[in-house]
Amino acid sequence: MKFLLSFAFFLFAILVFAQSSFSPVLPVDSPVYLSGTFGEIRSHHFHSGIDIRTGGVEGWNVRSIEKGVVRRIKISSYGNGKALYVEHPQGYTSVYCHLRVFSKKIQDLVDSIQRKQEFFELDTVFTGAGIPVEKSEMIALSGNSGGSEGPHLHFEIRDSKNEEPLNPEIFYRGKIVDSISPVMGVIRLFVPSGLDGTFRASPGRDTIEMEASRSCFYWTIQFSDDQTRNGNQNFPYEIEMKENQVSWFHLKNDRFAFWQSRWVDGTVQYPKSEFQAIRIPALPGNRMPLLKTSNRAEYICQLDTQWKHYSIRVSDSRGNETKKVLTIRTPGKEHPADTIALISSPISDKSLKNEGFEAFIPKEAQYETREEIAIYPGKNISKAVVAIMPLGIPFALPITVRVPKNQVPTELSRKLMFMVSDHQGKRTIVIPKITETDYVFSLRETGMIYWDIDTVSPELKSLFDETRVIYGGDTLKVQVKEMLSGIGSYRASIDNKWVLSEYEPRSNQFWIFIPKNIGMGNRVIQLKAWDTKGNASEIKIKLRTMNHPEIGKSAPAFNGKNQKGEDISLEQFKGKKVLLYFYPKDDTPGCTAEACNLRDNYSTLTATGWEVVGVSTDSVKSHDKFAAKFELPFHLLADEEKKTVEAYGVWVEKSMYGRKYMGTDRKSFIIDENGVLIKIIEKVDTKNHTQQVLDALK
Ligand SMILES: [Zn+2]
Repeated sequence: MKFLLSFAFFLFAILVFAQSSFSPVLPVDSPVYLSGTFGEIRSHHFHSGIDIRTGGVEGWNVRSIEKGVVRRIKISSYGNGKALYVEHPQGYTSVYCHLRVFSKKIQDLVDSIQRKQEFFELDTVFTGAGIPVEKSEMIALSGNSGGSEGPHLHFEIRDSKNEEPLNPEIFYRGKIVDSISPVMGVIRLFVPSGLDGTFRASPGRDTIEMEASRSCFYWTIQFSDDQTRNGNQNFPYEIEMKENQVSWFHLKNDRFAFWQSRWVDGTVQYPKSEFQAIRIPALPGNRMPLLKTSNRAEYICQLDTQWKHYSIRVSDSRGNETKKVLTIRTPGKEHPADTIALISSPISDKSLKNEGFEAFIPKEAQYETREEIAIYPGKNISKAVVAIMPLGIPFALPITVRVPKNQVPTELSRKLMFMVSDHQGKRTIVIPKITETDYVFSLRETGMIYWDIDTVSPELKSLFDETRVIYGGDTLKVQVKEMLSGIGSYRASIDNKWVLSEYEPRSNQFWIFIPKNIGMGNRVIQLKAWDTKGNASEIKIKLRTMNHPEIGKSAPAFNGKNQKGEDISLEQFKGKKVLLYFYPKDDTPGCTAEACNLRDNYSTLTATGWEVVGVSTDSVKSHDKFAAKFELPFHLLADEEKKTVEAYGVWVEKSMYGRKYMGTDRKSFIIDENGVLIKIIEKVDTKNHTQQVLDALK
């Protein structure tokens, strides 16, 4: 009995453990190759997830890594694009970004939300039950949406309690194949007067000797981590530097909070940082929790002339590691001016004032204590209103800049906009808080603030050949030029009814999605766009729309007379594969080439269960002549009433020498033994059409 009891307890313990343990599967099917790692250095932030390569293409299956519920769906033209947040009962949330499309049950919901709000972008959080998903369930297809620079899956695992991102590699230690150790690349030595030397950490050498010209110095060191059979250089998991027992630097990419991500600027050499080059030691103002050592300093000072040895170790999350020793000697105390105290807790609040302008720098905003920052009125020279100098200094916390309202034009204030330019002259729009007397800006870097008046509307230009017919499911593209305040809002409609459209900032295009079931007709497609200052533009496009029959559904029935005047119909071909090919006109060059190619291969086709039916709007008599002249052995349907060409969506407006007329589009449809449409060949290769048809079914 005692045995049974303890056995029952044992079982119970297993059950509890199984319920609470988090053992996620990978979010993609193929072996995982990373093009980006957690904690990697990006512009003003640490990378908060891993980037999984998808072979340069979109459309990979994306799977929920554990059982859970979809808590949030976010769709944006920028940043993470189309993103899904799945909450798991073990206290983690997995995040999947830059997706192309969601699985059907999620996409149906997204479609209905977009229809209801009549807008593309959304951010929906589901309280209560959410949408349940199983472990390994396909939840989306990978894509390239938002600010992505090529198809991939950005994937995160967060702590559900506080949304802090964790390094996903920690959960997949055995599942990411890698036996290559991370390496050190270029090592640069800096002293207070600037660069003092450049060294290469070649793989063979364990010790790198350097002599500094001054007694105080710091390094920047490039790190990179190759993964087996990958080809991407990623950022390693852990970096540590020690001198005897003193840890000068220890970075471990395990977790951080999003608001702390800004401290990346104190981890690299600014204003210009080299690819994945880390500043050692870390600056005093850098309080990033990824840093596990308490030592922070602008410089390390060696005030005697002894050689000192700094051992450095870098490893990936699989434990592959590389070790080196940096050996350094200085001239000792000969430059007393360089002797800089090691500062661990800097600075108090600072308020800089000049002619009514103010910059407030909170304590701990500056990474380095010795930077002298000043504020200068711009005197409205080329619309500059104020400058915070020197340029190129980032802040760990935002600083506040006040500009008196009377320093910028007061008329047309609704069209007034501000930009800040950085050390490279790059201008970014900034939106101030407006008080009774001031415009108040929050800045994360020194810069110059400019104003401008935006009264210019966005310029719209259709990129679509308006003589062509549009099919249900097509995407219409419109180019936009907006020089000043940026796109604020937009709306597309077809015959005055809202239709889904998306702003694509990477290409400066609007994409208008033509509904699948649009049907045949003449339509007016309208797009209206506003910039953020309310200047509007609109474009109207007149088009003819049409539907192809849907693949996977019963092909539209047809019947009529063939070249011999016999009645034929789709019905009578049940049990055979049907190649239904549409062509413009009997006895014209392209049509003859296509017909003759099918004639020459006809016996092969019939032997493998095919029937061939050609369709044009010519008469029975015309078909008879055409068939006789070229000895065509298959049916030619005379569709004089245009019932079949319209049912298959191939009766379209064409133009020749500027003249517009209606005609038959050359397209082929493959129908299976049960009358189901299985394939449409849009671009027919007339001379090799038989081969093209057979290849299409491979
Ligand atoms: Zn990413």
